[in-house]
Amino acid sequence: MKSTVAFHTLGCKLNYSETSTIGQQFTQNGYDIVQFNDGANVYVINTCTVTDNADKECRQIIRRALRKNPEAYIIVTGCYAQLKPDDIAHIEGVDAVLGSNEKFKIFGLLENFTKQKLSCIHVTPTEEMDEVFSASSSEQDDRTRAFLKIQDGCDYKCSFCTIPLARGKSRSLDVESVLNNFKQLIDNGYKEIILTGVNVGDYGKAIGSDFYSLLKAIIEIPGDFRVRISSIEPNLLTDEVISLTANSEKLCKHFHIPLQSGSSKILKLMQRRYNTDDYKKVVEKAHSKIDDLGIGIDVIVGFPGETEEDFLDTYNFLKELPFSYLHVFTYSERANTKAISMEGSVDIVERKRRNNMLRVLSEKKRNLFYHSMVGKELSVLFEKEGKDDEIKGFASNYIRVKTGYNPDLINTFTNVTISEVDDSHCVTDSNVCNSQMKSSVE
Ligand code: SF4
Repeated sequence: MKSTVAFHTLGCKLNYSETSTIGQQFTQNGYDIVQFNDGANVYVINTCTVTDNADKECRQIIRRALRKNPEAYIIVTGCYAQLKPDDIAHIEGVDAVLGSNEKFKIFGLLENFTKQKLSCIHVTPTEEMDEVFSASSSEQDDRTRAFLKIQDGCDYKCSFCTIPLARGKSRSLDVESVLNNFKQLIDNGYKEIILTGVNVGDYGKAIGSDFYSLLKAIIEIPGDFRVRISSIEPNLLTDEVISLTANSEKLCKHFHIPLQSGSSKILKLMQRRYNTDDYKKVVEKAHSKIDDLGIGIDVIVGFPGETEEDFLDTYNFLKELPFSYLHVFTYSERANTKAISMEGSVDIVERKRRNNMLRVLSEKKRNLFYHSMVGKELSVLFEKEGKDDEIKGFASNYIRVKTGYNPDLINTFTNVTISEVDDSHCVTDSNVCNSQMKSSVE
């Protein structure tokens, strides 16, 4: 009987794409990938440090795995493993702890997955991490949208962030490998490729390239596809990238641009590389150059020193910006960061209140944006997901669109006219949808 492996991933899309690549290695080595609850022979837990209570969460997952199979070999890897290998090695049941550099070397480092009394640790010190491993994954198994890793690590020193400690300095996959991996995904039938990394806009540093040149090379690849940028720092969203996006059908009309705070005082404490004026200029420029642009924004509330006035600055700053959704994070203290020892800790209840206020604002803006699409024609990539009688997908500007179920629409770009908005989707009439697909074929 074949050996089996199961995975559990915490954190970001980058981690998910890396887990998927580790999965391919197991398959190549003769393993069957099974569901977590199926009692696998080997469990790989790919951790994150951004998660609150990473330690608690990790323990729970290990216990769950061992309940399913008390003899299972347990490997813990990822950012949390890189930062706290000793703590993890002491958790009962853990067999191997692998750092960020070692997660792709499981078969070289661990011989036969035999349980020992003591767990082993393989972790390269963060400052010595200089390799970058390629990775890609799909969101579902329907071969519609895939995540492609192009970069790892970060040279920035945001005072709240542990990612540079866990993933090391900024490194880029060479251009040729990115293009080959990209072509491979297209050949496998994927229609939307999402470029991921820790600091994607920083791509190319130290290898004589840059993000704009990479985008230009990617859109020259022949084929029926589109490219989405997972997230880009405001100081790296250049005029060139904005113009390229405005002029290429292959680049999604969507930018996710982390802001973190709408108070320049807090941005300075966060050690971000821009102030609110810089941010506003970039967003307004992108918005004015690209029709129907979808803009997503990350914000952190409750950072040390954030007074009510600072928070209201953020709220009012955002209220005036033309964005389409927010990702709101509540600040939480992280060991080994500058922010943890800053004065002015914000009460937890107050942090939650601020978070709620921004979530409500996000909902209002999203609604406005969705309603502004009514009557417009958009190209939608429909996916398998959806109830029996409907089918859903994303437009280039990242709005969710649904229509009546029609299998012919799956994994095709279909021009649709938005007729109305329901709770969470723009809706298009399936007849309109069908006829437009037909006319685009004719
Ligand atoms: S840009 Fe700042 S927040 Fe983002 S990974 Fe780098 S250090 Fe962390």
